[in-house]
Amino acid sequence: MVLYSHSRISCFEQCPFKFKLKYLDKVRPEIEQSIEAFLGSIVHDTLEKLYKDMRFQKLNTLEEILVHYGELWDKNWNPAILIVRKDYTTENYRKMGEKFIADYYEKHKPFDQSKTIGLEQRIVLDLNNDGRYKLQGFIDRLAIGKDGTYEIHDYKTNSSLPLKEYLEEDRQLALYAMAVKGSYPDAKSIKLIWHFLTFNKHIEIQKTDEELEKLRLSVISDIQNIESAKEYPTKKTTLCEWCEFRPMCPEWAHIAKTEGMTLKDFMKDDGVALVNKYAELTEKKATVEGEMDTVKEKLLEFAKNSGVTTVGGSGYSAKIWSAEKYKFPGKNDDGRTELEDFLNKSGLIKDVAALDTFLLSRKMDEKDWPEDIKNAIRKFGRKELIERIYLRKKDDCQ
Ligand code: SF4
Repeated sequence: MVLYSHSRISCFEQCPFKFKLKYLDKVRPEIEQSIEAFLGSIVHDTLEKLYKDMRFQKLNTLEEILVHYGELWDKNWNPAILIVRKDYTTENYRKMGEKFIADYYEKHKPFDQSKTIGLEQRIVLDLNNDGRYKLQGFIDRLAIGKDGTYEIHDYKTNSSLPLKEYLEEDRQLALYAMAVKGSYPDAKSIKLIWHFLTFNKHIEIQKTDEELEKLRLSVISDIQNIESAKEYPTKKTTLCEWCEFRPMCPEWAHIAKTEGMTLKDFMKDDGVALVNKYAELTEKKATVEGEMDTVKEKLLEFAKNSGVTTVGGSGYSAKIWSAEKYKFPGKNDDGRTELEDFLNKSGLIKDVAALDTFLLSRKMDEKDWPEDIKNAIRKFGRKELIERIYLRKKDDCQ
């Protein structure tokens, strides 16, 4: 039985390929952590200490708590931590964390706005009450306000401040609210509170029972979607830059490998040379069609042999797309009449508008036709590998 979490579901939504490496294949990435994640964890641990000591009636001074932060930073720092934004140093990040804590401290001292009942508190939620869809999470700080309202506090070190409307749709804290409702019978009213430490601001919302029920059903459906997945394609977004699997991802491995090369080695790299040639030929396509086919073939072969789906060049990168599709007999090909007869008899011809074989091939990948009919249709076609190259300007996410 898989124990789900908000991060596990989000990872699948972010990139199914990353999800597979991380949760199914349990691959250990070369990059262990980004500096943003490191900073976040040290700040969380520092605030945890602040509230933990409060339980023992010990109120740390700001200086004491910053000393603790510095010690945690030094003890856990590891030079393999990834800094994506090359304009900033480790020291810049360290100071950012100090500022987050100092601002939070000044805003909330003497920290008696609510009574803390849990720190890094583990919650387990049984979404269907049958043990089938279980989810776990950790609440940064669970507290009870002076009016008896339960409070779920979450510390964020993001560099952007989301709109309240966005947080209304947030899944993580709402799931925690569901778990708190289930565990504390007097938790009739629950506030979800996000502390955006970069901006020294907090945003709070409350959820109705109807909203929580809607969320419960949608999370079950998200989990079913994950469990029924048969393929785990890559999904390139700006978040790829922070992905710990980037060096082993087929979309980025070639680019990551050539990034650290000297200009001389970079220009000598087979993949770079092929993409540059392909880009050059694309511009004067009309006159060099034959040569273009050769370069295209070599580029496809290079990508296949290197196990990548994107090959980087100087100003462009080439995205290789390939898929196995059924090819059906064209107008004058053998088997066409039999195929048309079959589609006419099964009443499906109207769906492919007088036997459009391209549309028919697409229908085979969709779910709306019964599987037995699709199997019968497949007999009229043959599988073939379709490969395409998309040349893109080389920017952050391409
Ligand atoms: S680098 Fe991007 S596409 Fe590749 S695994 Fe990570 S998130 Fe997915």
